[in-house]
Amino acid sequence: MNKQMKGQLTSQMAMDLEYKYGAHNYHPLPVVLSKGEGVYLWDVEGKRYYDFLSAYSAVNQGHCHPKIIKALTEQAGKLALTSRAFYNDVLGVYEKHITEYFGFDKVLPMNTGAEAVETAIKLCRKWAYRKKGIGENKAKIIVCENNFHGRTTTIISFSSDPDAKKEYGPYTPGFITIPYNDTRALAEALKDPDVAGFMVEPIQGEAGVFVPDEGYLTEAYRSCKDAGALFIADEVQTGVARTGKVIACDHENVKPDILILGKAISGGMYPVSAVLANDDIMLVIKPGQHGSTFGGNPLAGRVAMAALDVIEEENLCERSQKLGEILRRELKAIETDMISVVRGKGLLNAIVIKPKGGKEAWDVCVKMAENGLLAKPTHGDKIRFAPPLVITEEQLMECVEIIRKSVLSFE
Ligand SMILES: *Cc1c(COP(=O)(O)O)cnc(C)c1O
Repeated sequence: MNKQMKGQLTSQMAMDLEYKYGAHNYHPLPVVLSKGEGVYLWDVEGKRYYDFLSAYSAVNQGHCHPKIIKALTEQAGKLALTSRAFYNDVLGVYEKHITEYFGFDKVLPMNTGAEAVETAIKLCRKWAYRKKGIGENKAKIIVCENNFHGRTTTIISFSSDPDAKKEYGPYTPGFITIPYNDTRALAEALKDPDVAGFMVEPIQGEAGVFVPDEGYLTEAYRSCKDAGALFIADEVQTGVARTGKVIACDHENVKPDILILGKAISGGMYPVSAVLANDDIMLVIKPGQHGSTFGGNPLAGRVAMAALDVIEEENLCERSQKLGEILRRELKAIETDMISVVRGKGLLNAIVIKPKGGKEAWDVCVKMAENGLLAKPTHGDKIRFAPPLVITEEQLMECVEIIRKSVLSFE
């Protein structure tokens, strides 16, 4: 029965099953996908789409990359999980690989982005008590309005999005919220001697790809140094070549004290996240004080090494940088007042839709899906455009044509 059902599953059946048996915590576009390769996705009826979301920038290397599949399947047949109660023959090799890749002394491996953010918060607090001398339970971390750092109880405690936060209290204290892209507000907040760190997204992805002013990260980093606070970069979405550099902080040559990575460090093949820092910070956490059953497992290590190699071997930073400029130029050239803003860096981009005749960003996304391109609205009127970085210029131009046709259909 089950086997037969799987073979014959239509889109409608799949959507009905999810609706009936799954929690209703998402509202997906009505497309049911069953296959991916590179920049393409196919639905269960065999229709092909360009992927312009890349699983929120987890699939930078493209769907089902053969090198990453090979790493996954070979390691899966050998050893998948030992826990950290014992050593394994991949973890150290992976730790050397990722720390050299991003230029830090140490890594603390976790699984999801939210876990890595939680880890960074704990690391920052521990550092505050052991190194900065802040009184116990007094440490504060500065965060920005409209942030997105994940979904745990602590993380949503400092969210400014009511959907993410409301009725999940009581909330974790110890966070100060300031406006994004505001160095004066930061300097002011840093005057509090109990501030241990500042956690920031170099570009606010979920908020709708909000790119701060040039120099913001440099200035923010300098203020943190002056105040003796840690500069913590959440590059779960912006990292791993997405914005045209290995990490987005590289655009301003800022080296975070704590770097948080997730999503694309595994090419979307398997949940892998990481917190990177130098010894003076990372070594404040001692055995038994933090951990994860799955964090640092051999499967994750092999997959992440392969995924990071692909970024270098296929020059995905250069490609992202170059194609991003072309994409923004072409989007700005579309003659419509429905697109009120085009912004982004590398291949992390967004447009803002001005509703027309009752048609909104959601309708534009449904139309683009009909025309063979998948993107999702974020915060109502914004649509993120973030294709896998392996996209070619020719494919990108075809995508621009689909977007143009879709938007102009509402004129
Ligand atoms: C997606 C994201 C997270 C959370 O990652 P999960 O793997 O979904 O827990 C954290 N920070 C940023 C900036 C993200 O984009």
